[in-house]
Amino acid sequence: MRTGSIRLFKIFGITVYLHISWFLILLFEMSSRGHYYSSEIWQFLEIVALFGIVLIHEFGHALACRSVGGSADTIILWPFGGFAYVSPPWRPGAMLWSIVAGPLVNVILIPVTVGIFWLTVAPHVALTPHNFLDLLLNTPATAGNLGRFLSRVVLINIVLLIFNMLPVYPLDGGKILWSLLWFVTGEGLALRIASVVGLLGSGLLAWWAFNSGQIYLMAVSAFLIFEAVNAYRQSTRLMMMSKIPRHSQYRCPNCDQGARVGAFWTCANCSTHFDMFASHGQCPNCHASFMNTEIRCPECRAVSPVSHWFAAATVDPIDQPKS
Ligand SMILES: [Zn+2]
Ligand SMILES: [Zn+2]
Ligand SMILES: [Zn+2]
Repeated sequence: MRTGSIRLFKIFGITVYLHISWFLILLFEMSSRGHYYSSEIWQFLEIVALFGIVLIHEFGHALACRSVGGSADTIILWPFGGFAYVSPPWRPGAMLWSIVAGPLVNVILIPVTVGIFWLTVAPHVALTPHNFLDLLLNTPATAGNLGRFLSRVVLINIVLLIFNMLPVYPLDGGKILWSLLWFVTGEGLALRIASVVGLLGSGLLAWWAFNSGQIYLMAVSAFLIFEAVNAYRQSTRLMMMSKIPRHSQYRCPNCDQGARVGAFWTCANCSTHFDMFASHGQCPNCHASFMNTEIRCPECRAVSPVSHWFAAATVDPIDQPKS
């Protein structure tokens, strides 16, 4: 997932990567925009501001996920948006908070950016909705490069917030829909509904982008469709898994959900299918050990060695190896 990304810095234990395709966007933007500013440097600063707003939005997700006991150590900034690789505990409440915290950052930024814009451009004019919209959308050249730049920052933040809150999975709004439904229907069916709504929404967006010839938006909707299809597949897995009983002792070290009972593993040595947990991390046929093998939690998607799933285990007579 970090292929083609440049490591920028690490803060609060979270490493931030920038995907190189950002430079394409930068080139495209720098060359295609008209003469909104009297100097190119402001065009560049506008892109840096967009980058900064996306970044702190992602930090909102990552830090909220940590605050409920989840793990988050990577943020990648793609041209299609930022991604905080978060694994919150597998509970609807923890999931909801980890998602809501991103858009919440943009909500908090509204009064901050509006305040700075207003104090810079029209400190003596009353801040009414009419005055505000007029000055924001038609910032006069007399406001200078700084005034025009600040109006764009206000707009970028609001547009990002509105777009992100569309109930189209995998956008934040779609994930919020998923977490809310999860309280009522369980995670599998909730994800199924959210992914179908996401497919319909991103399909509409693609249709609209195609008809209006907006190439960037077409690429974004293609990405959204791809992710919604993946989520649909995951919902099928989750719905199937919800019927399978769990081992009470062996738990995912990240989300604390018990491992499912069943012969889901295939021995790399002798091709025997076996239950990793019932046979204590070894193949019941050839006794190859898999204690250090990294496995992915089917629910929170976190990867950890088998031995860590055993860490919480005490004596479980049912699950002793039969050797
Ligand atoms: Zn977000
Ligand atoms: Zn897990
Ligand atoms: Zn074997």
